[in-house]
Formats: sequence, structure tokens, C-alpha cells
Amino acid sequence: MIYPRKCPGCGDVISPEMLVCGRCSDSFRPVRGPHCFKCGRQLEDETGEYCDECTGKGHHYSVGFSALMYDGATRKAMSDLKFGGLAENADFFAAKAYELCSERVRAFAPDIMVPVPIHPSKMRKRGYNQAQLITDRLSVILGIGAVNDLLLRTKKTRAQKLLDAGSRTDNLRDAFTCDLSRYSHDLISGRFRKVLLVDDIYTTGATMECCTNALLEAGVSTVGILSAAMGCTY
Ligand SMILES: [Zn+2]
Ligand SMILES: [Zn+2]
Repeated sequence: MIYPRKCPGCGDVISPEMLVCGRCSDSFRPVRGPHCFKCGRQLEDETGEYCDECTGKGHHYSVGFSALMYDGATRKAMSDLKFGGLAENADFFAAKAYELCSERVRAFAPDIMVPVPIHPSKMRKRGYNQAQLITDRLSVILGIGAVNDLLLRTKKTRAQKLLDAGSRTDNLRDAFTCDLSRYSHDLISGRFRKVLLVDDIYTTGATMECCTNALLEAGVSTVGILSAAMGCTY
């Protein structure tokens, strides 16, 4: 059975070639340039190179891209994807990521894309990993392979949104690892040299940073990150 496509903003049925209805399209606000050289956030101060969040942080990933501001309609559509079972919203987020980030992603030229994993217990409960759905769809449109079983989430962590920045990093310590029984260090350092790590929402970057470190330890040389939505911290 084929379900009709619904607008991720209001839920109205829309025609299959549309992503969003005409009334809602403006409520999904893109992350505009100038972008922070590190995380891809929209810079408040147009003369700066880095956002406040990245200044003095030394994230180990090389560069970041993000499609939409995490507010209004985006926040609702993301919550529907993560907690309301609306897996189809991943199509919308992948299409927006393509529209708004594909040029920069192609310039970065990753060998593979890797989604930020969720813990197996959460996977069982939700039935899918939203970051993986976005990655899989984006992988098809971009023509860049996705590897979904390289990075594993080995520790159940508390919800990051409840914690301050310092506790976020502590909470995530050793939460991610690469599956070296499946992919050898030699294979990773040979074929997965440049990885585009994909997540649903970027806030302080703590999750992306921990995943990046796990990838670098396993033999990846360069990590770029892409998030469907960028949290506002100011
Ligand atoms: Zn709508
Ligand atoms: Zn930044």
C-alpha cells in the first residue's frame, strides 16, 4: 500500500512531487550563510569566522554543514520523526539537506556517509534510527555510499537536552565505538578515509565530537559532519 505524501508542517496531503505545502514552506527556516567555518552554524556576527559555540573548543571534525534552523516547523517535524513515528519526515529532511548543503558536501568529497547511531534498546522501541533514515535517503540522492554498521552506540546515555555542556561530554564518554570485528583498521584507513557523519540535530556538538573521535581512532583520517537541523544556543 502506498500512503499519500503529507506535509511535514501541517500534515495535509500534498502531491507526491512536493516536499511541503505552500503555506508551510516558509516556516522551515534554512541555516543561511555566512556559516561558521567549523560547525556550519549561521553566524550572527558576519565579520567573524567561528560561532561562539565553536570558539576555543577545538572540535576534531574538520567541517560542518546544517540545513535548517531547529525552531518552529522544523522542531515539530523533527519531533514527529523522532517520537511520533512519522518516518516519512526523513524524506523531507534529506531533501532539504540536499538542497541546502549538497554543494558544500560535494566539495568536501566524502568516501562514505555514517549516521550517528542510537542505542539498540532505543532502536527496538522506536523501530528506526532517524539519523540513519536521513543518511540512507541522502546517500541515494547524492550517490555517496552509506555505512550503517561501522559506528556503534555501546552505552545508554541520558537525554543530552537535560544536561549542560560539560555534563554532555561526560555523559557521552565511551558511548560510541567502531565495530572493528566487522571492519578492520586497515580497511577503514584505506577505504573510509573521509567520512561524512550525519545526525538529526546539532546543538553543542558533543555527540558529533564523541563520534568523530571514535571514527578517527578506528583509522578514519578526516570527518565532516552534517545535521538536518541546527539548534540555536543563543
Ligand atoms: Zn503544510
Ligand atoms: Zn560553529
